[in-house]
Amino acid sequence: MFIRKNVVNLYYKNILNYIDMRSMLFTVVMVALFACHPYSASAQLDAVRKVFNKSGNRRNEIVVPKVGKYNVYKADLHTHTIYSDGDVTPGWRVEEAWNDGLDIVAITDHMEYRRIERAMYRYMKDYIREDLRKEGGAVNTNVLNRAPDSRGLLVDFNVSYDRAKKRGDELGLMVIRGVEITRGKLGDYNALFTKDNNTIYDPDLETTIRNARKQGAFIFHNHPQYSKKTKSTMPEHCEDFHAKGLIDGIEVANGYNFYTRLFDLCMGGGYTPVANSDAHGLISGTFSGAGKEYFRNMTLILAKRCDEKSIHEALKAGRTIAYHANMFVGSEKLLAELFEASISVEVIGESKKDFRVMVTNHSSFPYSLRWDGWREAAVYGMSSTVINVAKGKKEFELIPTNMYYGKDKSPKVSFKLR
Ligand SMILES: [Zn+2]
Repeated sequence: MFIRKNVVNLYYKNILNYIDMRSMLFTVVMVALFACHPYSASAQLDAVRKVFNKSGNRRNEIVVPKVGKYNVYKADLHTHTIYSDGDVTPGWRVEEAWNDGLDIVAITDHMEYRRIERAMYRYMKDYIREDLRKEGGAVNTNVLNRAPDSRGLLVDFNVSYDRAKKRGDELGLMVIRGVEITRGKLGDYNALFTKDNNTIYDPDLETTIRNARKQGAFIFHNHPQYSKKTKSTMPEHCEDFHAKGLIDGIEVANGYNFYTRLFDLCMGGGYTPVANSDAHGLISGTFSGAGKEYFRNMTLILAKRCDEKSIHEALKAGRTIAYHANMFVGSEKLLAELFEASISVEVIGESKKDFRVMVTNHSSFPYSLRWDGWREAAVYGMSSTVINVAKGKKEFELIPTNMYYGKDKSPKVSFKLR
């Protein structure tokens, strides 16, 4: 026993020595190799790290597949800057939209309420001619809370767009000239694709809207509030304006607000649905979960190209889907088409009663799904999930329950099982 133990020890010792020698030899050869190479391993790593650490702009892409012959462009059609009551510059507004993966941003500063300019007026009044110096005269920064000033506002309403456009051109992001018509109880309205914001204002709301219309503007009703007195969910004159052809769309989501009671009116009444940030400060402050659980509000626009003509035409034709916190509002047809373009299914196995089906989502947007009448699951953006589907049919219907073409109405999309 004693001898045997020694022999065994010796045997292992030899093996260990052998391994030691092998690894030493390997190390010597590798060191020699790297010494001869122009870059050592750590220098290479440092060089790569340097590239990754380089500061610079980063755009987080939001992937949406083509729907039929149309590309899907991501737009925020309602934003503010320091040229009304926002806290950021027009250039920053553009940069942020680009970083967040949007393709289009509209700059829609208020005509009637310009908080920052009011402060700037106080700061700069010594530079202003004495006869124009009286506040509320030369610079009427708050028509909303005063009698409308027949002298108009002697500020240039195009400046914020001009500055944003400059930065947009540098980044390849489309900037739309717009303006917010702000009338308190009478409602607020955004006019997009205006030609000259300085010739739109009038104390009378309808005349102002008509002035924007004369410039060919696309106009929507902003953040509609519910009217308790009437059945209507918007001021009654909004529907009159729509009937007269003066309003094209409704903002079904604005910031954190989602106006579910308006879905039927919007989709049934032939309005274009839009969802926007109405950001005054930083987007990260407006949507604290943006980029994590969901994206910032956006209006998905189905158009052939990302240029003024195509986008304007698509908005007029109602080819939009409003997106708010992973929920979508649009026509039944467009919602079904977007879902169908985003999802593929494959049967990967079966049991006695069910098929095992892999559902793959080729877009960045998540979907909550219902099928077989009662089964439910989620498929996250750029992900797959495996679900059980009852046997017995060649096709099965998936319902994306986070898509709405009316209140509590979601489209149904059929997928082949074989
Ligand atoms: Zn606004």
